[in-house]
Amino acid sequence: MDLLREKGIRSEEVLDALMQVPRHVFLESSFEAFAYKDAAFPIRAAQTISQPYTVAVQTQALELSPGAKVLEIGTGSGYQAAVLAAMGFRVYSIERQKELFDFSKRVLSELRATVVQRFGDGYKGMPTFAPFDGILVTAAAPDVPNALLAQLAVGGKLILPVGPEGADQRMWRITRMGDKSFEREDLGAFRFVPMLGNVANGQDSV
Ligand code: SAH
Repeated sequence: MDLLREKGIRSEEVLDALMQVPRHVFLESSFEAFAYKDAAFPIRAAQTISQPYTVAVQTQALELSPGAKVLEIGTGSGYQAAVLAAMGFRVYSIERQKELFDFSKRVLSELRATVVQRFGDGYKGMPTFAPFDGILVTAAAPDVPNALLAQLAVGGKLILPVGPEGADQRMWRITRMGDKSFEREDLGAFRFVPMLGNVANGQDSV
């Protein structure tokens, strides 16, 4: 946690949430020994679990209090979703790959983390549960998905990496100031796996 503090994570709530969530349970057994290093690791289906610093930056950037409604796109291992639940948020999360959806569902229920999970396409968001106080995207999109902007509450924030595959992306924080007005801030360079297109056999994410 001192390392994360040195790297600029100032929110005690975020540091506490990271301490509460055991990271090793989200990793393949061969990587368990490295679970507490500040690094990204491979998980199933050729995806990666974000490094704790990235999880901390995205969570801190939401600037939300307990009880806030937060949607995550890209459940992956379920680690980021567990951290959001430990923050006291009401958490919703979408995953496009069945294998990861099943895996994260099992781990999150074992940890008794309350997360509403859907197997589907995150580009569409979860309109049934909108609006959200925060939306956090954990895969890089080439552009900002309009459906996600539309599902933000006024005052709500969308945190997402935008940019090409295989190179650094910029992390944007987009705040909905009014019905049609949005403010954009650049939170720096990050490297994420790409967001995947339409699901061949997934159900709709609503
Ligand atoms: N938040 C994760 C890290 C996710 S890696 C964690 O804490 O472990 C990015 C995830 O986004 C992968 O699991 C990938 O399958 C998923 N993903 C990619 N495109 C998606 C889409 N269109 N909709 C939903 N999930 C998507």
